[in-house]
Amino acid sequence: MIEDKNKQYTKLNDLGEFGLIEHLTKHFKIKRESTIKGVGDDAAVLDFKEKKVVVTTDLLVEGVHFDLSYMPLKHLGYKAVMVNLSDVYAMNAKATQITVSIAVSNRFPLEALEELYAGIQTAVEIYDVDLIGGDTTSSTTGLLISVTAIGEVAEGEVVYRNGAKPNDLLVVSGDLGGAYMGLQVLEREKEVYKVNPNNQPDLEPYTYIVERQLKPEARKDIVKLLSDLDVKPTAMIDISDGLSSEIMHICKQSDVGCDLYENKIPLDPQVISTCEEFNMDSTTVALNGGEDYELLFTVSQDDFPKIKANPNLSVIGFIKEKAAGTHLVTRAETRIPLKAQGWKNFED
Ligand code: ADP
Ligand code: MG
Repeated sequence: MIEDKNKQYTKLNDLGEFGLIEHLTKHFKIKRESTIKGVGDDAAVLDFKEKKVVVTTDLLVEGVHFDLSYMPLKHLGYKAVMVNLSDVYAMNAKATQITVSIAVSNRFPLEALEELYAGIQTAVEIYDVDLIGGDTTSSTTGLLISVTAIGEVAEGEVVYRNGAKPNDLLVVSGDLGGAYMGLQVLEREKEVYKVNPNNQPDLEPYTYIVERQLKPEARKDIVKLLSDLDVKPTAMIDISDGLSSEIMHICKQSDVGCDLYENKIPLDPQVISTCEEFNMDSTTVALNGGEDYELLFTVSQDDFPKIKANPNLSVIGFIKEKAAGTHLVTRAETRIPLKAQGWKNFED
């Protein structure tokens, strides 16, 4: 949070734990039929009737997963929710509830937590999930935020990582490498600012990639799109660590190989131009960048006509027999073994 010297901030100690929880959660309304009891008792109560339930958690630690010098708290709250919803959508499920746990030091005034919760509330409203609980505790120095997301899915609709079959198509939503290049820009501006605090950064040429880093969106729309197109992926995963490592997960768990085509990897023009500026290879960035929160999935070739014209989806490769291995087919048509850390690392 940018501290305003003229403003009076409220110390967390002034509210006490219960006052703080009440203050932060009172504006959240329960909307989902499956939420019987949300915040306010010893535990939340949910009823999913005949549906299967998916549960996922992520823990974000200041200094490890985020840097508050360029990450506004509002965005952090939003992103912490997105990271988890993305995992729910990767199971082909509908996200329904979240819990939010925080550990905060006294260095943060109430107003900082209000910003964090404003971001959480925006996410909850846009993605139509209920905040149903959490935990609040103190930390000696930094901020920790842990979100748990819950979702529902009909039994036959769940998509695991292990269902890819030889000849299936490998498909990705959106474009890749943006979040990583956004981070490069923010890190560079932070260094410039350290040297000269009067130097205001001009982020205008980098709006898209900076937004990809600070305010990612989980692909709820893709789960709906696939359902509307009547396409059930054979395997699916979300891209949190980079395309290369996610492909390896699908191949390993499905016991298959894969050919990924370099010239099919979707890249935004801003990613390409920023890679040129930073003298980085855009394929390496897409393969290893991470934090794009796109969905990577495999579909049967029979489904190709249903997805081929969609601007949100790119076919980037083919699933092969395990013995064929996992390769990147470059623009020069050479085949390079795909590695979780990226092929550039293994070139020399
Ligand atoms: P307990 O002592 O049983 O752990 P708490 O006092 O921690 O209960 O929590 C009271 C209620 O407030 C519970 O419903 C809990 O889930 C909810 N809650 C606590 N902290 C948060 C938070 N940071 N965000 C959302 N809900 C919270
Ligand atoms: Mg508690």
